[in-house]
Amino acid sequence: MLFAICIIVTTTVVAQGQQPNTPQASQGGPRTTGVQAPQNGAQPQQRQQQVSPESTEWYYPVPAKVQPGAFTKPPSDAIILFDGTDLTKWGSRNGETAKWNVINKELVIEPGTGSIMTKEYFGDCQLHLEFKSPAPEEYTGQNRGNSGIMLQSKYEIQVLDGDNNPTYVNGMVGSIYKQSAPMVNAYTKNGEWQVYDIYWKAPKFGTNDQLESPAMVTVVLNGIVVQNNYVLKGTTPYIGFPKYEAHGRLPLSLQDHGTKTAYRNIWIRNL
Ligand code: MG
Repeated sequence: MLFAICIIVTTTVVAQGQQPNTPQASQGGPRTTGVQAPQNGAQPQQRQQQVSPESTEWYYPVPAKVQPGAFTKPPSDAIILFDGTDLTKWGSRNGETAKWNVINKELVIEPGTGSIMTKEYFGDCQLHLEFKSPAPEEYTGQNRGNSGIMLQSKYEIQVLDGDNNPTYVNGMVGSIYKQSAPMVNAYTKNGEWQVYDIYWKAPKFGTNDQLESPAMVTVVLNGIVVQNNYVLKGTTPYIGFPKYEAHGRLPLSLQDHGTKTAYRNIWIRNL
């Protein structure tokens, strides 16, 4: 049986300054068809198709109700990666127990024990964490408070002391390491907690492992956008150039770069 779907489109002329969805126009009743000269004598400006308001409204699926966190407390649906108690969500890169320390509810790097990584794998995500640089002592540049947030273990958002600590700008705090300097230096002072909120769109790979869409990230440091929808060129190596190699979901990793940077309040939401 053949079905024919007829869409009746009523056309009207919208005079300059008039909106097509004014209450008068949306109250139903007879509509004028065809071209009608405006009452005020102005020339027709625009021919616009009109459909019912309901045809452009949708009700499903209903977004889940989520209770926002107070201040920097995690929202109700976050995966808590570190809440000040232990490292049960983390391991070392070689599969052993993470050897960093929990001191006064802070996760403190034990230099030389290696980077740590989550046991859970992630793709697109919203990540929150706070870090505190160790005392500068005699260190400068890349040696002062260096750590890093390795998204999917491959793409580094730099963690570094940004308090009067000159270095190459695409390696300073807030940078996407060796790809993109931050728009501003939003770091406060050494010894104060710094707050990162990171919005990550993972790269997508197709059949034959070719790149279909690159990674993209927005980085907010202390409430200030320092990277705005930056499209990554690939991984973030110390030596060499960015490149993409196909992968799926991977752990989040935090970098051991030989300094006692501290972390707290680490949570993540899958997107
Ligand atoms: Mg680093």
